[in-house]
Amino acid sequence: MHCTVDDCEEDATNHYTWAWGEEGACCDGHRSHLESKAAQLGRSISFAAASDTDRPPAKQSYSTPKLQRLDPELGKLRLSLAEAQARIATLEQTVEVRDVQIVELNRRLMRSGEEPPVVVDEALPHAATTPGTEDAKDQKRSQRK
Ligand SMILES: [Zn+2]
Repeated sequence: MHCTVDDCEEDATNHYTWAWGEEGACCDGHRSHLESKAAQLGRSISFAAASDTDRPPAKQSYSTPKLQRLDPELGKLRLSLAEAQARIATLEQTVEVRDVQIVELNRRLMRSGEEPPVVVDEALPHAATTPGTEDAKDQKRSQRK
């Protein structure tokens, strides 16, 4: 229902009743206008909140919170599920990478039986190089290339 005062386009928030029985609806802005008018006329005017039938949105907003309360909960669960699935996928990838690494390390271990591992030589350069073994040192250098 719209405000019935002066062709106002605002939604009516109040019902008013003049002392002589005339009734209407008005917005908050026109309520004060009517109050000052009543004071000028020296007549009384009574106001009441617009009836419930004029406010169907209020009833809708009452039932809406139940859905809004459910949705974030559902959203959280879906999010944690997606996160868990992503974690599983990552872990599966990690396991695959580890499997490949294990195979590769096993191959290196097999090979290390034939030739000395380069890693040990680099980590302990002095231990691998004893004085007077220049020939062995040169051999290792040529192996690295
Ligand atoms: Zn108005």
